[in-house]
Amino acid sequence: MVAALSMVFPTPEETMDFGRALGRALRAGDLVLLAGPLGAGKTTLTRGIADGLGVGGRVSSPTFVLARVHPAGAPGVPLVHVDAYRLGGDLSQLDDLDLDTDLERSAIVVEWGEGSAERLSDDYLVVRLDRREDDVREITLEPHGTWTERVPELTTA
Ligand code: ADP
Ligand code: MG
Repeated sequence: MVAALSMVFPTPEETMDFGRALGRALRAGDLVLLAGPLGAGKTTLTRGIADGLGVGGRVSSPTFVLARVHPAGAPGVPLVHVDAYRLGGDLSQLDDLDLDTDLERSAIVVEWGEGSAERLSDDYLVVRLDRREDDVREITLEPHGTWTERVPELTTA
């Protein structure tokens, strides 16, 4: 793993803007794991990612549905937005949900995802969100596998 990289976003809009940059960089088969406590901004960041990917549908917390598929824009890949907490931390269960998408052709973003991906892939990006004072959020990127080469592109975008 290369050194983790931290950024500070004082407003939800700035967090979403970073999500947009990340979403524009995502490709089929990508796995992004969001870590951080309730209210840290995981769903807010995912809204930005969805916008950057150009997918359809309103992004809301996946808590009650376990996983939601946002259909691809043209061109682009679908977004699968997952709540790993509800899946008991076992992402291999995604295969059993009968989602209306091919996971290998989708970008997968997982709330509460840390610790749940190792069985799925060696290549994943952990995005850690921490609450600082008031509305300030610190986001730390922890790349694994091929993501180590991709993270520098994200932060210069
Ligand atoms: P989570 O999915 O991690 O539980 P949400 O994205 O649902 O978190 O909620 C985060 C809340 O914090 C939202 O109401 C959002 O508007 C607010 N917020 C305040 N400041 C920020 C910021 N800098 N970045 C992201 N969200 C923020
Ligand atoms: Mg959430």
